Amino acid sequence: MHVVVDVPEPVVEKSPEVVGVDLGLNHPAVTSNKHFLGSSHWKERDRRFFRLRRKLQSKGSKSAKRHLKKLSKRQARFHRDCDHVLSKRIVQNTPTGATIVFENLTNIRETSKIGKSKKNDTKRRLHGWSFAQLYDFTVYKAQERGIAVERIDPRHTSQTCSRCGHQHRSNRRSQSLFLCRQCGYCLNADLNAAKNIREKHLASLASLGRSLAGGLPVTKPLVSDLLV
Ligand SMILES: [Zn+2]
Repeated sequence: MHVVVDVPEPVVEKSPEVVGVDLGLNHPAVTSNKHFLGSSHWKERDRRFFRLRRKLQSKGSKSAKRHLKKLSKRQARFHRDCDHVLSKRIVQNTPTGATIVFENLTNIRETSKIGKSKKNDTKRRLHGWSFAQLYDFTVYKAQERGIAVERIDPRHTSQTCSRCGHQHRSNRRSQSLFLCRQCGYCLNADLNAAKNIREKHLASLASLGRSLAGGLPVTKPLVSDLLV
């Protein structure tokens, strides 16, 4: 299903602003410019779907299978509705002509099989809630406002201090709080990740030597693991 709609390319002046977006479960999206977007109730609703699916799957009867099919459709609709809301909010909170940066979570299922440490470090949209759809919706909505959408490697974005660049697993004290063991910087963990996502993109721009018109000053120290 691919719907092609002709959207005339808007004439928008490019902005050097870059907004990093961290995707999670407690806060569906947190941006580096400090917006907490989406509803915290989505997680619970998604878990209910998951529990119900498991129950029906274990039954295995004909009627259970029929219910499962319906449930899958309902869950897909729910995900689609959430992704529409979230992509809209992300674009609304980004200046015209700027750049939105996500972590590339497309192959997150494979990476989460590698091991626990990896799983903890990568992000958590569970139970087949695909990143691809949110990404597509965002690209489409961003286009209308001349906003670019980029993706970066998600490694270490939650363990690295966005102030001093120190990276360690124990940096992240809990799901919601980040505390740097080196410099003592303390802030919301998702916001810290969003800032790192932004920095990582800026660092990759700098290392590629291609900057936007006027050049992007990269003021933070470029720590080696922030370079892709
Ligand atoms: Zn630090």
